[in-house]
Amino acid sequence: MNTYDVMVIGSGFAGMAASLFAAKRGLSVAQAGGTGGIDFSTGFIDLMAVHPVAGQRVWEDPYAALAALRRDLPLHPYAHVTDDEIAAALGEFAAFLGDNGLCYTGRPGRNTLTLTSAGTVKPTYLLPCSAWGGVEALEAKAPTLLVDFHGLKGISARQIAEVRADWPELRTARVRFPGMGGELYPEHMAWSMADQARRIELAEAVRPLLGDARFVGFPAIFGMTDTMAVVRHMEELLGRRVFEIPTLPPSIAGPRLRAAFDRGLPVLGVRTYTQKLVSAAEVSDGLFHFTAGSGSTAVRIAARGAVLASGRFFGKGLKADRHAVREAVFDLPVSQPGKREDWHRAEFFDPRGHGINQAGLETDAALRPLGADGRPFHPRLHAAGAILAHQDWMRMKCGAGLAIATACKAVRDLNQNL
Ligand SMILES: Cc1cc2nc3c(=O)[nH]c(=O)nc-3n(C[C@H](O)[C@H](O)[C@H](O)COP(=O)(O)OP(=O)(O)OC[C@H]3O[C@@H](n4cnc5c(N)ncnc54)[C@H](O)[C@@H]3O)c2cc1C
Repeated sequence: MNTYDVMVIGSGFAGMAASLFAAKRGLSVAQAGGTGGIDFSTGFIDLMAVHPVAGQRVWEDPYAALAALRRDLPLHPYAHVTDDEIAAALGEFAAFLGDNGLCYTGRPGRNTLTLTSAGTVKPTYLLPCSAWGGVEALEAKAPTLLVDFHGLKGISARQIAEVRADWPELRTARVRFPGMGGELYPEHMAWSMADQARRIELAEAVRPLLGDARFVGFPAIFGMTDTMAVVRHMEELLGRRVFEIPTLPPSIAGPRLRAAFDRGLPVLGVRTYTQKLVSAAEVSDGLFHFTAGSGSTAVRIAARGAVLASGRFFGKGLKADRHAVREAVFDLPVSQPGKREDWHRAEFFDPRGHGINQAGLETDAALRPLGADGRPFHPRLHAAGAILAHQDWMRMKCGAGLAIATACKAVRDLNQNL
């Protein structure tokens, strides 16, 4: 049995980031995990946009929001990470994606309002380069044609245009996707767009509809592995700026992200156990011993340190029964509302959010989860991402950013202790 420096438990944003950061720092890494938020992601990397959630204040400057957050909510996990650490982590993460065919962009130190499939705008920090034309078109309210497809559900150009009444020069058109009929799925369409002939056919269908449009927006279907090459080719064919709008989750942004990690992590030497969950964990002789998977395909993995990035309820890092919330791998104490009745507020859309959405692990400043005695459970066990307590990433709009920043911090502090 191999002994690794680090076992990463989880393959969502936090687990992928932890594996990347650890491998880049020369550590040997094993990673186990199943489906996570990354697979359902719209591809946007939110850093920090809404605080306080009850007042729904939206910040243009995420670092100013972070300063306010650290002042008002000193238990929030971002309180353990500095601005410089966050900026460096995001930079390293985006560079890795770029090296693996996924271009990301944004404005340093500023959130960007980006168009969603519902026609609303959402503040985010980093977004796929393939969506950037949409930001420019929206900001300039430029003459733009939005195209959707017969048979593709979850995105309607007309609905977007109706919501964007502030954009009079936004026109829409529905076309047939070449070579496919019936109900269409973004992933199938994206694979088929790898074929240049398909792009030429699509451009021929759209060209007569262009009119005075300077930008043309499409549902996100432009290839799985080298999206920007497809975007550039479509721009050449149409003679207009072209952009993508992510479809409703699950969009192809998730498979694109996962594919980038599937390509890039093994090259860095990470041993990945895909679709295997850690079913047992014990500590003996100064090492962690994990079992990943079950039955005849179970594997045993030993490691000197570990990063627990198993998410909250969606990821299965936390489990709830009628009475309490439990952590699934080490049975660590979970910070949670005192009584079951306090898990949820009476109104589902209560802007203050629900107590259960702040449940998670308490940690020390090095992001080591605390045991029942209030001290770190193990000197070389760190936690990252959604499993951390005192944050509501969905309402604060900080999901992927928090996962990436805390993964970087967890790996850095673990590395000092190995
Ligand atoms: C529909 C949807 C849309 C989203 N959109 C955005 C967005 O636009 N922008 C943004 O910034 N964020 C977005 N997020 C949030 C983001 O994807 C992450 O959910 C969040 O950042 C937390 O990441 P995480 O890695 O901590 O947890 P998760 O994403 O929940 O991943 C947990 C991982 O741990 C694994 N795991 C659990 N238990 C075990 C075990 N015992 N052994 C091994 N592995 C285990 C799971 O299989 C999974 O791989 C979205 C999430 C969802 C669900």
